[in-house]
Amino acid sequence: MLRGMVDIISRSEWGARAPRSRQTTSWSARTEFIVHYSAGPPSQTPRQIQAFHMDSNGWSDVGYNFLIDTDGKIYEGRGWLVVGAHATGHNTSGIGACFIGGNGDATPATRKAIRALYDEANRKAGRTLKIRGHRDVGSTDCPGDDLYAWVRDGMPADGAGEADGGGGGSGGGGQVPPWPGVYLSYPPITRHPAVSTWQGRMRERGWSLTVDGAYGARSRSVCSAFQREKGLTVDGIVGPDTWRVAWTAPIT
Ligand SMILES: [Zn+2]
Repeated sequence: MLRGMVDIISRSEWGARAPRSRQTTSWSARTEFIVHYSAGPPSQTPRQIQAFHMDSNGWSDVGYNFLIDTDGKIYEGRGWLVVGAHATGHNTSGIGACFIGGNGDATPATRKAIRALYDEANRKAGRTLKIRGHRDVGSTDCPGDDLYAWVRDGMPADGAGEADGGGGGSGGGGQVPPWPGVYLSYPPITRHPAVSTWQGRMRERGWSLTVDGAYGARSRSVCSAFQREKGLTVDGIVGPDTWRVAWTAPIT
């Protein structure tokens, strides 16, 4: 790990190829922190993304300064002070942090890690960098509606599911509401009081979704990401297991 206030998996630890060339900048030139998504599967590795950028795009190295996965692991890309290839016109001023995954895949752990990385950037810069989504500075959907909503909110730490490193376990023993006997699924939209119960619980866990009693596309996307994170069958349907684990699994 690189030493600092956040744990960062170094290039040598993830087996990065050497860059073909590199150009550095300085902290005085850094003014912004730009959040991206890879728009690919969360299972993609930094090595695969680097290979794509170097071999298909012909770039000198992986384009981003850092990459963050659904477990909240942070991988060193080009690092703090190497000019990236992630946002045209903003590669010298901006530190590019890329979430590995598509819209709706980002987890509370992802958000917590991006926030920690941003805080570390501010410490190193000695001032507060502007928070940006890629779409703020370029014509793109990046970083996806879900992550962008959080970026627009200023990347609140409490959107990360856990205010401090208390170690989870909230809502454990004996507090699981009874399984409602209705599978929450979409499409079509499921409307049932249990939907609000589940949505409220997922919000407590740090997921961004509206508690409106209607299980639609956004609820399904949160459900799938949660199932993937917890090693459940990923079907986007809240059945008895997914329901129970929402209350019993430690909040990470
Ligand atoms: Zn982007």
